[in-house]
Amino acid sequence: MMSGWNFRGLASFIGYKAALAGVSLIYVDPKETSKTCPKCGNISSHNRKVQGWFRYTKCGYQSDAERVGALNVAAKALDALGA
Ligand SMILES: [Zn+2]
Repeated sequence: MMSGWNFRGLASFIGYKAALAGVSLIYVDPKETSKTCPKCGNISSHNRKVQGWFRYTKCGYQSDAERVGALNVAAKALDALGA
């Protein structure tokens, strides 16, 4: 159902549902979240040789690319909270 929504529509829907549930919502800039190593913080487009897998050659960290993106978004949210 939501796959046809634009980003603004989806963000609005999520904000509406979060407010109903009493959940705080933090917007973060997603820039570089798919290219940043969550272990050492280095950024490189070479970390994604395969679409669904993240492997950073310098520190050796590797994981599912979606998981890496989620970890980086969570880290940005924690930074925004000052945690
Ligand atoms: Zn790394």
